[in-house]
Amino acid sequence: MIFVRENGRTIPKEDKIFAISNRAKEAIAKYGKENVINGTVGALFDDEGKLIVLKSVDRVFKSLTPDEYAPYAPIGGTPEFKAAIKKAAFGSYEPKGFTEAVATPGGTGGVRNTVSNFSAFGDRVLVADWFWAPYKTICQEIGRDIQTFKFFNEEGGFNIDDFKANVLELLEMQESLVIIINSPAHNPTGYSLTVNDWRNIKAIFEKTPQDKHVALLVDAAYIDFAGDEEQYRQFLPVLDEMPENVLPIVGYSASKTFTMYGMRCGAMICIAKTPAIAQEFKQACEFSSRGSWSNCNRAPQTIIAKIYADPELKKMVDEERAEYRDMLLRRGRAFEKAAKECGLEMVPFDAGFFASVPMPNPDEVAAELEKENIFLIPLAKGIRTSVASVPEDKCKLIPARIKAAMERLAEK
Ligand code: PLP
Repeated sequence: MIFVRENGRTIPKEDKIFAISNRAKEAIAKYGKENVINGTVGALFDDEGKLIVLKSVDRVFKSLTPDEYAPYAPIGGTPEFKAAIKKAAFGSYEPKGFTEAVATPGGTGGVRNTVSNFSAFGDRVLVADWFWAPYKTICQEIGRDIQTFKFFNEEGGFNIDDFKANVLELLEMQESLVIIINSPAHNPTGYSLTVNDWRNIKAIFEKTPQDKHVALLVDAAYIDFAGDEEQYRQFLPVLDEMPENVLPIVGYSASKTFTMYGMRCGAMICIAKTPAIAQEFKQACEFSSRGSWSNCNRAPQTIIAKIYADPELKKMVDEERAEYRDMLLRRGRAFEKAAKECGLEMVPFDAGFFASVPMPNPDEVAAELEKENIFLIPLAKGIRTSVASVPEDKCKLIPARIKAAMERLAEK
């Protein structure tokens, strides 16, 4: 770095995912889309390789009048948006706790504001060892770091023992603790914590020191693409029952749910035990917003408010999304079945945009696959395929190709 002060951050030359994604695009331009598999992008594409945008959402967007998109929105979001986004996040569940919603630019903003407000400088934020890379970027950016726990146990379930060991260790070292759990349809594995997993987490917090504060961020970015909306919200009552020193925060993203990735809209919503805790959450998070991105984009807030004010429109959006979700689930199942058939080990998978394969040498295997015009993302512990961006017939092909690449390299 020449002018830049790194301040404890590791700043790479380029974002790895976007670099691979660019190479995939170049390959498509050169060899044609039928000859290339681009499993890099975290957005839902149709079988022709076009970004899926819900028509019902697009129609509302195009109908906006200038006063519905041009003025600044309040820092925490418009009142109509805040009411609507709570409904979007909680579905038919009505939390018993005190909820406050603060608008954020995508789910990312909620991660940033949670880390900045509920951990101290130098703290470690607990995340799973399979994790979305920006968690680390965000922590480093604001003077924190991550610590990882083993996400899976030997049986392929949530590793509650390792989670507990890390929680206890960090609570011993720190006055406060932020934990980020991305579920359901976790990125990068597709795993969803069961209601029982959440109950086990609650049981741990019932025994940890009650004078230490824990912010439990449930990053629910993929909640509407995991399966039945109500079924995948059955864990919410467990959040409501956490002890008072644990503050559950739901990180909600409009990027996937409303196919508004570039509109940068989301919200962080607390479920607090007292009005004072909820009020403090709102006050601090709005302060953070003001000091980082200021207010959020008004247009998507208006769109979501309009959808929730009109039952017919809401039904259309839900039905349209459900069709694409079924398509996504079929792709995931096709990948899983093909992996089983060729004997390729997968990381425990349930649903969602991604599926992962564990291996010791992901960078080499990904480079080997690129030679055959298959573009996937190497992570620390394996390779991630975005089934969201690959048609079902190609999802069926990928596992055997990964396996063959791994075997070729092992023979070298
Ligand atoms: N959390 C996870 C795990 C994600 O994968 C994403 C998007 O890729 C997000 C949060 C939020 O994304 P956005 O800020 O685009 O809403």
